Amino acid sequence: MFTASAPKSLHSQRRRLAAALIAVFLLSVAFLVIYAAAFSTFKASELDRAQGRADFYRTTLESALDRLEHLPFIVGQDPAVVRGLTDPTSRDALNRRLEDFATRANAEALYVMNLDGLTIAASNHAQAVNFIGENYSFRPYFQTAKSGQRGKFFAIGATTKRPGFFVAEPVRNAAGKIIGVIALKIELDELVEAWQASGEKILITNLDSIIVLASQPEWHYQTLSPISEERLLDIRNMRQFGQEALQPLDWQRLGDDEIALAGERHIGVRVPVRSQPWELHFIVNTAGLQERALFVVFLAAISVALLAILFIFWRSERLRRALHASHQDRQRLLREIEERKATEKALAKTQEELEKSSRMAALGQLAASVTHELGQPLSAMRNYIAIEEMGAAQKPDSLATRLSALVRRMENITRDLRFFAQPKQDQQAPFDVAKAIENAVELVRHDLKQRDIDLQIKAPLPGPQILGNGARFEQVLVNLLRNAISAVEQAKAPRIELGWTRERGQVVIYVADNGHGLKGQQIEELQEPFRTDKPSGEGMGLGLAISASIVKEHAGELFAQDNDHGGATFTVLLPPIPQDQTEGET
Ligand code: ADP
Repeated sequence: MFTASAPKSLHSQRRRLAAALIAVFLLSVAFLVIYAAAFSTFKASELDRAQGRADFYRTTLESALDRLEHLPFIVGQDPAVVRGLTDPTSRDALNRRLEDFATRANAEALYVMNLDGLTIAASNHAQAVNFIGENYSFRPYFQTAKSGQRGKFFAIGATTKRPGFFVAEPVRNAAGKIIGVIALKIELDELVEAWQASGEKILITNLDSIIVLASQPEWHYQTLSPISEERLLDIRNMRQFGQEALQPLDWQRLGDDEIALAGERHIGVRVPVRSQPWELHFIVNTAGLQERALFVVFLAAISVALLAILFIFWRSERLRRALHASHQDRQRLLREIEERKATEKALAKTQEELEKSSRMAALGQLAASVTHELGQPLSAMRNYIAIEEMGAAQKPDSLATRLSALVRRMENITRDLRFFAQPKQDQQAPFDVAKAIENAVELVRHDLKQRDIDLQIKAPLPGPQILGNGARFEQVLVNLLRNAISAVEQAKAPRIELGWTRERGQVVIYVADNGHGLKGQQIEELQEPFRTDKPSGEGMGLGLAISASIVKEHAGELFAQDNDHGGATFTVLLPPIPQDQTEGET
């Protein structure tokens, strides 16, 4: 059995392991799918948001660039500017005038150059580092303005070394001839500071993919894609970015909207700036998105765990209920079995009683016919003996005397039988148990004396009242006493004890002797009719059968048991008459 179950359990263990592995695999796949779906959802919404933010930053940049775009043109119309270009003595006045304009417009610098690119007047004339005397002919914005158009240019200041956006306009005399150039420098420091403060990542690239502005200062003047040597030379000549090395930024485009920046994944959008050939890049680190997607997976895992716990709880609850129900079924079944057993027992007892009653009834019929048949010959015999005795002298050993003894013996036998022949008397009356004991003792006193038996009576008068037939009940006591007398026949100091007590509301009558005892026989066996250990003629084995029958008529019970120190005790248990009934009777 052991060898058969071992591979079976191994097999089921393997199956369970396989099921667990499959469950883990499926859960992992599910979590991966959830992660991917959550990530792409978050990415889409983040891209949406990025587009909005990029548009916002683009607008602020455009408005910063456009705000003062027309100032050089307007100031260029001022006669003081034309005068300053033609009359060197009026330059001080022009300087002050430019300073005034720049201060009011909140511009970094406003300055006028002659056609050689030499600065003849500037708003920052009073500052230690100023533009006066500087030549900016190399700047594209100067060249464009000189040619009669508006020049725009982003560059690091050649004098101040500070970056700025330059707007230049030609200055014309009254004849409309270009006699100089007026330029404006706008610094974008405040804008960049605002970007930094926002904590977002923004960068602006020009056509050469050089970062001109960025929320992160370290990105400034780095490139997003390599620049050719030729172009690099051009930029150097324009001195657009001063001495900056223009190193490439650790930037790699992974897709349309994905970038690796310094090894970290970012998503981003780019929008063109309207007034300049620039592009604004707005980028977001995906670490936050990954964290959010992981959080969703975590929530999903918690939900799965909760569901699993709920399922386990539900299953254990169902099991517990099933167990409870089966336990109750079992209890019910056990109860039913017990009830059935009790019914069967009661049935068997009833059957036994029935058999006994039918046996007793048959015995009654037999006894009636025997006593009837023997009655007449016996009384005839007694008459003949009486006539014989009257005629002859009385001799103790005469035939008449011996026959008379035999007739008495036969009458004794028929007396026992008559009990069965007599129909049960229904009249019932209360009688005193102690009185019945006294009467019974009186009937056997002769035998007791003859055999020298010590009789102890513990039956104080008045005794308890019993409802029934006193005379019939005395017969029970006489029977028990007679049996006790026979039992103590061989005893050295024959002794019989007789009395009544009360126990748990019942009246108990007992007859105890120190005779040979019951030898393990039960009362049921002893009270079987015709069961006797006495020699023929001395007893018919009907005494206890009759006694049990009479006790039953009185709603009582008969018990017998061996005494611890030899002999037997017969006990009769009877229900007493309730007190009020007794009072009514007396
Ligand atoms: P009988 O007295 O005619 O034998 P009973 O029915 O009165 O018939 O008694 C049946 C048997 O029970 C007796 O033969 C005897 O073996 C046993 N018995 C009755 N009373 C006692 C007793 N007090 N001590 C021992 N045995 C007894």
